Amino acid sequence: MGGEAILAQIADEVRVCTRCALANRRTLAVPGEGNVLSDVLLVGEGPGAREDATGRPFVGPAGQLLSELLHAIGWQREDVFITNVVKCRPPGNRDPEPVEIATCAAYLDAQELALEPAVVVTLGRHSLQRYLPGARIGAIHGALRRSYTGQHIFPMYHPAAALHQASLRETLFRDIRGLPAALLDARRAIEGERAASIQAEEVVVPMDGPDAADDAEQMTLF
Ligand code: URA
Repeated sequence: MGGEAILAQIADEVRVCTRCALANRRTLAVPGEGNVLSDVLLVGEGPGAREDATGRPFVGPAGQLLSELLHAIGWQREDVFITNVVKCRPPGNRDPEPVEIATCAAYLDAQELALEPAVVVTLGRHSLQRYLPGARIGAIHGALRRSYTGQHIFPMYHPAAALHQASLRETLFRDIRGLPAALLDARRAIEGERAASIQAEEVVVPMDGPDAADDAEQMTLF
């Protein structure tokens, strides 16, 4: 199955998910959407009221700002894939509980496997904690980081935060202007690591190849 079919299957499962209590009070689950061929994955916190009503991520006021941020670097929503750490709305827009994040994590794990993003852009602290546990957004936003599993992470404040705290708006725009260069850096690093691992395999392979028997025979001659 290709990435697109896998992502569609994950979305189908999310829409009928009852694994945690958030399912009881949702209108629609919000699996995520976007360009299934993109190597940029944006991960927010969880659906709000508008997202819950429509089944689509970031379509409310925070989503409006997210679109503006993407436009600032010449990108559209359709250029990236957008999802959340929890796929159902926490009642009253409260923070998702750790157990809800943990229960929902399998869906995000599967989405990442299907997309193989070069960069994951974390929006807000819940998303950041998934990739860089213990990190403080104020200390590390706006620059490329590596998660402990080696993923390239570009931490940003949540757009909703700028709706409450105007000074963060400027920070968000400053940070996102660094994203295209961060993406190029991440792609280069991934290519470099891939090439190095192929080279390492090539060094090992001849010993298992047809010459290996000759080598063994040579050894017995001395
Ligand atoms: N906030 C989020 O974190 N995600 C959404 O989809 C909408 C608002």
